[in-house]
Amino acid sequence: MRQVNIALDGPSGAGKSSVAKECAKQLGLIYIDTGAMYRAAALYAIENGIPIERDALLPHLDGIHIDIRHVEGSQHIFLNGRDVSERIREADASIGSSNIAVIPEVRAKLVELQRELARNNSVVMDGRDIGTNVLPDADLKIFLTASLDVRAKRRYRELQEKGMGRAYEAVKQDMAYRDENDSKRECAPLCMAEDAVLIDSSDMTFEEVVRKIAGMISKL
Ligand code: C5P
Repeated sequence: MRQVNIALDGPSGAGKSSVAKECAKQLGLIYIDTGAMYRAAALYAIENGIPIERDALLPHLDGIHIDIRHVEGSQHIFLNGRDVSERIREADASIGSSNIAVIPEVRAKLVELQRELARNNSVVMDGRDIGTNVLPDADLKIFLTASLDVRAKRRYRELQEKGMGRAYEAVKQDMAYRDENDSKRECAPLCMAEDAVLIDSSDMTFEEVVRKIAGMISKL
């Protein structure tokens, strides 16, 4: 296949990362999880006691070095040389990522890294603004969504399986907060690109979603 870039956007818990990972595996593309980058940036602030606010954070931006490496086929995210792939999934980094993502300078820094990865590789990139902002010329844009209830239930089960269980209501509340925050921010908010294909996975199985998206990619 020629070099292709696929943009996969949608709200939290829509299943973007599992679907993107599986499609990338089946089709030999590189999966890039951009949310992990915002989470790692938030973790830097949390661990260094820096409030997640523009003025407090700006002087520290140059100290945040994020990179993505592929270890045995799976993506690992490194913050200043340390593998933080697991740590960034905790609740403080989830909420922190949504708060840090409103800061335009943080976005500019991470978007540059994302574009560089897409320039050199065939990628399936998952995020919120990939089709609208990061890769406006992507070969295929998908907007994957599901109802808040379905998304919160999926995330709740996922956290339980990882031994990071939290009350269902807390998971749902955090998700609703992030949906609102991500959609209302001024800089590159979560929204569907005009030329994106909308997929609502509320009543679809994981396999059905993968089959549909992988089918579209293989026709490119
Ligand atoms: O996808 P994930 O839930 O890991 O993303 C964490 C947070 O990072 C999101 O809630 C969103 O605020 C932010 N994000 C973003 N733009 C992206 C990817 C993630 O603003 N492209």
